[in-house]
Formats: sequence, structure tokens, C-alpha cells
Amino acid sequence: MSGGWLAVAGLGPGDEALVTPEVRAALADATDVVGYFPYVARVAERPGLVRHGSDNRVEVDRAGLALGLAAGGRRVVVVSSGDPGIFAMASAVFEAVEAGPEGWRDLDIRILPGITAMLAAAARLGAPLGHDFCAINLSDNLKPWAVVEHRLRMAARGGFAMAFYNPRSNARPHQFGAALAILREECGPGRLISFARDVTRPDQRLETVTLAEARPEMADMRTVVILGNAETRRVGRYVYTPRSVGLVGGGAP
Ligand code: SAH
Repeated sequence: MSGGWLAVAGLGPGDEALVTPEVRAALADATDVVGYFPYVARVAERPGLVRHGSDNRVEVDRAGLALGLAAGGRRVVVVSSGDPGIFAMASAVFEAVEAGPEGWRDLDIRILPGITAMLAAAARLGAPLGHDFCAINLSDNLKPWAVVEHRLRMAARGGFAMAFYNPRSNARPHQFGAALAILREECGPGRLISFARDVTRPDQRLETVTLAEARPEMADMRTVVILGNAETRRVGRYVYTPRSVGLVGGGAP
């Protein structure tokens, strides 16, 4: 059966105003929505739409289900929060394509970007990512913790601001404290760090402190954490990072 397609769409950080028109159009045209059940629940029910909610830990199975439906002629949207390419379903779909039947490689697959948590958080805080930065997933579900520690040290030594996703869960309560200890050692106690929880949702909470004041309990799985670079500063109630560094003395090497 032809005519099927698969879109992997980002629903943004939570506020419906931050869902792109492109994603809205794909959802309006879909026969099936596939994803982690709280994200699927964000898509309104309507006649002709089948919603397939699943648990969070079965990404590749979910991708395989979506690809199978699209190969059978359905119009399928796989939903992620934020952006689908950032620690989310887009890569899982391509992994499933690589491991799956040859015919899946010819499917019409489109990745529809969304506003990722760190960008929404940065915008609410001011402009903490205004210079070079990197994003690190602090979960060790898909990589060894030693890799996380190494990347934190290297990013700190590189002078990068950093955004941390999946900072602290009940399953791994101690690692975020270990991450903060590394950052204090590498960046010093005065470096600014912001905790942005439930960004753009009704319970949004923003808190900026120094690394000396940062406590592991300030983060959970609904928080994205933004660490400034050596130049990041406050101006009024905003936090920003200047666009230049090291031009007139100071700054990173
Ligand atoms: N694809 C998503 C990220 C998935 S990983 C994106 O692009 O945003 C899940 C992590 O994203 C959470 O643990 C948290 O660190 C972060 N996150 C997602 N939405 C958030 C929000 N509204 N507020 C704060 N953090 C959020």
C-alpha cells in the first residue's frame, strides 16, 4: 500500500503556543500518533485518529511499530517533547530503519523540529547560551557514567556553557551530586548555574545560584539545568552570556 508517511515531530516544551504550524499540520493529517503516553495525550482525540501511547523505555519497539504502520500506508506521527532530534525519537527511528527490512529505507520519513527544553529555558532566563555551548544528557541509561564525567571535564576545560538534560532521577539519585562536584572543581564556586523546571508550563520555576550554592535536590527529571561560562553574569533579573570572550583580557583560554 502506498501513500504512507512517517513524521517525527517535536511538541515543544509544553506551551501549545510553542508547537510549530508544521507540526500542527502533520498532526491534523495523521491517521496514527505514536509515542510516550503523556506526549500522545497532548494530541486531541478526533475521529479517524488512532493514538498509540507506550511506556518510556521501549523507544526502538515504538519506532518499529510506527515504521510498520507507515509501510502499510498509514500517515503516522511519532511525537517527542521538545525537539525530536535531541535525546528523543528521531535517532530511535533511524536505528530501527537500519535494523529493519530493506524497504523501510525508501519510506517517506520527515523530522519536524520543535523548541527544545534548553532553548525555552534560556529564553525565559535571558540569554545564558549566547556564546559557545554544548548539551549533555546526564542519564547513564545509554552510555557509561564515566563518559558523562569525562565530557563534563572536557566541556568545562573548553570554556563551554552547558545545558544538562535528564539531570537527576529517582533511579540514580547520587550522580547529579557527583556531576556538581566535578563542575565545582573545574569551574570554581562562583560560576552561575540555573535550574529551569516545567519551562513554559503552568508550574514553571526558574532559579539561578552559584555552583557553591547548588544542591542536587534543585534538579529532577522535569528540570533542565544551564551552567554558564566564565563570563556569564546577571543583569537585573536576567542571566546572560556576552557574545564575545577573551578579546579584551579575561575569559576562557
Ligand atoms: N526531546 C526533549 C528532551 C527529552 S529528554 C527536548 O528537546 O526538550 C527529557 C529531559 O528534557 C528532561 O529530563 C528535562 O531535563 C528536559 N525537559 C523537557 N521538557 C522540559 C521542560 N518543559 N522544562 C524543563 N525541562 C524539560
